[in-house]
Amino acid sequence: MSQARESTDLFSRPVTALPGVAGRRAALLRRLDITTWFDLLTWFPRDFEDWSTLTPLAELIDGEEQTFVARVTRKPTLTRRGRLSILRAHLRDDAQAIAAVWFNQAWLVDRLEVDQWYIFHGRITRRGSAFSVQNPAFEPWDPEKDGSYGIRPIYPLTEGLSQGVMRRLIQTVIPRLIGQIPEPLPDQIRRRHKLCAVDFAYSRIHHPSSWEEAEICRYRLAFEELFLLLAGLQLLRNQSRNQNLGCVLTLDPEQTIKFNQIFAGLPFSLTQAQERTWKEVLEDLGSPQPMNRLIQGDVGSGKTVIAALAMLWCALAGGQAVLMAPTAILARQHFDTLNRLLSASGEPIALLTGSTLAKERRQLLSDLADGQIRLLVGTHALIEESVSFHNLLLAVTDEQHRFGVRQRIKLGSGETAVQPHVLVMSATPIPRTLALILYSDLDISLIDQLPPGRQPIRTYTAVSSDRPRIEQIMRRQVQEGRQVYVVCPMIEEQADTDLKSAVSTYNRLAQQVFPDLRIGLLHGSLKTDAKDQVMQAFMQGEIQILVSTTVIEVGVDNPNANLMLIENAERFGLAQLHQLRGRIGRGEHQALCILLSDSQDEKARERLRTLCRSENGFEIAEKDLELRGPGEFFGTRQHGLPPLKLANLYRDRKLLADVQVSLAELAERDPLLETRENQPIRQALDTRYGQLFKRIGI
Ligand code: ADP
Ligand code: MG
Repeated sequence: MSQARESTDLFSRPVTALPGVAGRRAALLRRLDITTWFDLLTWFPRDFEDWSTLTPLAELIDGEEQTFVARVTRKPTLTRRGRLSILRAHLRDDAQAIAAVWFNQAWLVDRLEVDQWYIFHGRITRRGSAFSVQNPAFEPWDPEKDGSYGIRPIYPLTEGLSQGVMRRLIQTVIPRLIGQIPEPLPDQIRRRHKLCAVDFAYSRIHHPSSWEEAEICRYRLAFEELFLLLAGLQLLRNQSRNQNLGCVLTLDPEQTIKFNQIFAGLPFSLTQAQERTWKEVLEDLGSPQPMNRLIQGDVGSGKTVIAALAMLWCALAGGQAVLMAPTAILARQHFDTLNRLLSASGEPIALLTGSTLAKERRQLLSDLADGQIRLLVGTHALIEESVSFHNLLLAVTDEQHRFGVRQRIKLGSGETAVQPHVLVMSATPIPRTLALILYSDLDISLIDQLPPGRQPIRTYTAVSSDRPRIEQIMRRQVQEGRQVYVVCPMIEEQADTDLKSAVSTYNRLAQQVFPDLRIGLLHGSLKTDAKDQVMQAFMQGEIQILVSTTVIEVGVDNPNANLMLIENAERFGLAQLHQLRGRIGRGEHQALCILLSDSQDEKARERLRTLCRSENGFEIAEKDLELRGPGEFFGTRQHGLPPLKLANLYRDRKLLADVQVSLAELAERDPLLETRENQPIRQALDTRYGQLFKRIGI
């Protein structure tokens, strides 16, 4: 206990308790989210510089980053050109001279003394016998230290904070923490996967003596990072399983008949994938363990009907069910869908959004509180804020807020400890590796099949000079009665960019290109009412061309829209483009998506080509992960999880596999982390992720 206590304190000790950290420097560190000693210790290098190999000047290679030892031959000169300061120094060793130049680092002039030897590191330029180096890092050469200049860490920084300062701070904190970090990984796991010891890893990652050592440390720490995160999520899941706090939802014969009638009366029959998913959901609803299920299915795969059926089932069983959407537009659309699918049941369905009038809203909240209304659709924000339920037994959430749904919704008067069943719907196809992490506490149902009759969406790239032709195509579609989306990366024009904005595109199309057509404008800063109106008008065909930002991204369903033009397509992520494209191709007409981009960037073009080739969300997501790296690709943070500092989910697939083997064994032997040997894991979860897991319910 006392050891755990102590290390907790140690972990959370503020950086301001270190010498030389106050005011401005503390603020700079805070900008990087570094507030504690442990944050500093885990501020891992993003790269290393090799200062271990010294190259004689004459053997320096053009274009390479190298390290050399040289003497300053005469007094360095400092000149100014406008706001630019240029410092020049002449250096040489026994055989060769080299010119060094630094821009805007005038203070270095006092650090370079004539006839002294220094060790330099920088990128070399070599033209015949003229050698030069720009902005090299350097320090006095100490022959005694030969070889121990070693591999130097390069840290991510923020403006105003130098490598030197960051290195010094981290080196200050290491001796204060090393020896006191409890080893969180059980011996057996460490031995099995040949992981180095905790102290070694945390100190040497910041100062490795070789590249191999750096990798040994990184591997261990990345292992630890993934292992602890996943062990925590696994624990969360196992704990909630163990509690049986759910409510078994069964129907009496009369309600069963009613349910079957509605089911049989659906406007379509379920696809096999939907059938399978519905069975899985139904099984969960009939179990005393609260459901915690993710339905993952590509855009248009038909997730909503499953939600509708589950909600109806819940209502007929006497409970309340809620469907939460991220936006008012989507909530309204779900509300319409539910009404269409479930009206024959006679169950009243309520809608709660920002535009619900005060009086209506009061009535609604009271009807929900006393259980008169059993089916509710609304936005996450509003429902979590304001609704008290009578007996909420099912919460369905679309696309967002996967954690803590249970915690945040007020569960009626509180006399029952029943936890609602939770169903999360996501159209974001996440690569398997990532899904393992983000969704490791959920059961997953995959709807991997589209309803019949869908035609593939043809997707092409285009450049600005194709605009006249594209506009012809747009006009032709509208003349044939179809509707068109034009998607822009931003709302309004901003200085310094030539990105297309929704407002200027709207103006151009409405005034110059298609003055005779009905053009609409939709973006996030419109009032909710205005957004609803525009959406409504588009759904009803009054608007022929809808110019918008990505607010249309999720869920909007207008089967008559079959053409989408995406401006500055290079600005969007692949997964996002795929989502956007999913707005079309929902009806019987051939759909066409045009990705407009003048970007010359090879990576950007490759991403767009991927989209032209594939319509499979999972394939696209994998490619996105590969091309952009997991950090940018999909912030774990946006899902309420801490960012991964070392593990790279694309590169480290083997590591992830190792971690999973260990986790599976752990789950088998000690699912609730109760044995003595696994207490270090618990402690580490507590000290490192305590806050997080408190929030999501561990
Ligand atoms: P998403 O999974 O993207 O939320 P939706 O639930 O909005 O997809 O369904 C997309 C469209 O497909 C809707 O218009 C819906 O009515 C229709 N749909 C869903 N399931 C089927 C099915 N089994 N057969 C035919 N159409 C279906
Ligand atoms: Mg949907």
